[in-house]
Amino acid sequence: MENVVIIGSGCAGWAAAIYTARANLQPLLITGMQPGGLLTTTTVVENYPGFSKGIDGNTLMVEMQEQAARFGTRVQYMSVVEKVELSRAPFKIWADGVEMQARSVIIAVGAGHRHLGVAGEHELENKGVTYCATCDGALPVFRNQPLVVVGGGDSACEEAMYLTRFGSKVYLIHRRNELRASRIMAERVLGNPKIEPVWDSIVEGVLDVSQDKVTGVRVKNIQTGRVSTIDCAGVFVAIGHQPNTDVFKGQITLDEAGYVRVHKGSHTNVEGVFVAGDCADSVYRQAITAAGMGCMAAIDCERWLATQKA
Ligand code: NAP
Repeated sequence: MENVVIIGSGCAGWAAAIYTARANLQPLLITGMQPGGLLTTTTVVENYPGFSKGIDGNTLMVEMQEQAARFGTRVQYMSVVEKVELSRAPFKIWADGVEMQARSVIIAVGAGHRHLGVAGEHELENKGVTYCATCDGALPVFRNQPLVVVGGGDSACEEAMYLTRFGSKVYLIHRRNELRASRIMAERVLGNPKIEPVWDSIVEGVLDVSQDKVTGVRVKNIQTGRVSTIDCAGVFVAIGHQPNTDVFKGQITLDEAGYVRVHKGSHTNVEGVFVAGDCADSVYRQAITAAGMGCMAAIDCERWLATQKA
């Protein structure tokens, strides 16, 4: 019987592990298939306090992991939770076909990339369509070629900036005529001569499935209705995220968008099950807020376990 099982290995999961390990709870953390979470796919993190010159996203996550391990966190790497039964304690969790039991659970499963849902996107995934410029941008197929980034937030801006190192030109296609990104990011993007914004436009389809590679996108201007084609070798989709909470459907209360409903700090509707990070946060979604929520969940969990012992 585990005291606490932490599901997820982003900032929230590792922070929860550091705190519960230091509270002597000997936590077990299940990483999922992407240890370190989405931050491992980013370049420099400039806004995590404590790093005046910024820190590489992957390095930050490895540091957190080592810090958690130093205090005795046990880690089940590359392991995925397939099923949970949270109706009553002890809670049951199945990962890689093996059942385990836990007195408490901290859910920190984060969020995944949102997809466009247009023709050709799925068929050409990894054949020119990607959701991570940092992971794929340097591939030979994208070098000195026109590239497309879809989205208007900080992620899209970051991806567009990064891709200017490799592409001949970067089109930033956004459905409005104003970026959602923070001012500093927006100014960098709009001041970069290699980036051409394509305003008020949506991608209707990715070409060309018959050639089994990306050759362009079909774009519609939603103000004028005009449809045109932009030739490109790569499409980098950066339109936000959706919470990775499918496995918890019917077990804990989620909102309409799939985020875990949280109340009283980090409590879910099930006593003994706590939540932290992007899977419960559709508003802030920052590394620092996720880490803070991980800390909150660990403290709430520790206090709740103490009441159970009494
Ligand atoms: P986001 O802020 O939610 O932005 C998503 C963008 O995609 C928006 O511009 C949105 O358009 C657009 N979009 C959404 N659905 C779309 C669809 N179906 N078709 C076309 N466009 C669509 O997501 P994000 O950029 O991934 O950022 C998430 C959070 O992480 C934010 O809080 C952000 O500040 C943070 N972040 C920070 C940094 C940094 O500080 N270095 C880097 C990356 C991310 P609308 O604007 O019209 O809604």
